[in-house]
Amino acid sequence: MSGTRVLVAGASIAGPALAHWLHRRGAAVTVVERAPELRPGGHAVDARGVAKEVIRWMGLDAAVRAACTETAGAHTVDADGNVLETFRAADDGGDGYIAEIEILRGDLSQVLYDATRDGVEYIFGDRIVELAQDADGVDVVFAGGDRRRYDLVVGADGLHSALRAMVFGPRERFVRHLGLVLAFYSVPNEFGLDRWLIDYQEAGRSAGLRPIQDATRAMAIFSFPSEDFDVDYRDVAAQKRLLRERMAGMGWLTPRILAHLDDTPDFYLDQVAQVVLDRWSSGRVGLLGDAAFSSSPMSGQGTGLALVGAYVLAGELAAAGWDPETGFAGYERRMRSFVAANQEIGRLHARSLAVPAPVAESGTEPDVEWDLELIERAINGIELPDYTEVPDSGVPAATPITSAAKP
Ligand SMILES: Cc1cc2nc3c(=O)[nH]c(=O)nc-3n(C[C@H](O)[C@H](O)[C@H](O)COP(=O)(O)OP(=O)(O)OC[C@H]3O[C@@H](n4cnc5c(N)ncnc54)[C@H](O)[C@@H]3O)c2cc1C
Repeated sequence: MSGTRVLVAGASIAGPALAHWLHRRGAAVTVVERAPELRPGGHAVDARGVAKEVIRWMGLDAAVRAACTETAGAHTVDADGNVLETFRAADDGGDGYIAEIEILRGDLSQVLYDATRDGVEYIFGDRIVELAQDADGVDVVFAGGDRRRYDLVVGADGLHSALRAMVFGPRERFVRHLGLVLAFYSVPNEFGLDRWLIDYQEAGRSAGLRPIQDATRAMAIFSFPSEDFDVDYRDVAAQKRLLRERMAGMGWLTPRILAHLDDTPDFYLDQVAQVVLDRWSSGRVGLLGDAAFSSSPMSGQGTGLALVGAYVLAGELAAAGWDPETGFAGYERRMRSFVAANQEIGRLHARSLAVPAPVAESGTEPDVEWDLELIERAINGIELPDYTEVPDSGVPAATPITSAAKP
């Protein structure tokens, strides 16, 4: 069936990437985003392995690379700033800890939006408030008052997905706290930071500075262990208080960085969490990206999962003639083990940060071969189907970048 109408909730990474592939496969796509406009900036995200392949197939390799942060690598340091360990962006074929494709979430979102805005309907400043599905479609009511009917609805509305809560159940059932809290905000670059990320760790806590494209500023990043998380996401003053409390007494440049908490124009603090669901669809409603399978920032792979998942979900639905049961089942079958490997990395990394070093070291010896095998499964552990049997309109003509290779 051509002209299948699909509504996607969320215009960050997963949403616009899915819109790209659905449009190429012949669907009529609407993306609804709660924020009044595309959210700029944010933290840095990466693309490695198969995710880079998907970006190439989208015809966006050059546009994404042009917007990258150009971070040279990372140094871990001691309290006096002496370098303990160095990771380079070129390590592991560009797929290492600091990936060669590292880009601010908002910049990647902009690239994806620019590439889809001509063929996809975007609605900003609105959200779904009611949803009722029957055998043939889904009736949706928007907060702004519009009522529409779609063939399929996909939630790409992030870790705290409202669509997931509406269709699958309350967030507590699916969001698993990993024992860490993460915060970041921009500060003036009075620290002489060049193209290198600096990371300092002390008693399970970490403080860091990351370069961003605007060299006059830097991104401060903090994490600290916390058994539970009960902070109102709207109460920024309480979040800043919590950060100050938990970072008290921390060495290195920490006090100087914290001194900018009150003059920063941006601030983010949230739990480090994963999303675990038995199924990523219910009838004609599916989930994608962090809403379905957040692997947490500690995996460094949430963006890769969203991009690869978008390609597979659109391909499977189109290959199934837009039959939701077959299409969503194919998507799950292909993605499950890839997601599992990345969630495992996220859990291991969170645990290694949350548990102070002497305790961690008292455990068994690390199994390097097993670690490498897990990393390979997390980066490349899915065979991308070519979907040659389904329509592909190719990269839309309005897209400024031409495709290097077509799936
Ligand atoms: C601090 C931090 C660091 C990270 N570091 C990395 C990293 O190094 N590497 C990496 O690959 N990934 C990283 N990630 C994860 C990465 O950001 C996500 O996995 C990626 O953005 C994919 O997200 P998404 O599009 O599924 O959801 P999100 O990016 O969360 O976007 C969800 C969108 O839905 C919108 N929305 C919310 N509710 C509604 C609603 N009711 N209706 C409509 N729209 C709605 C939101 O405004 C937002 O635009 C990090 C995440 C965080 C928070």
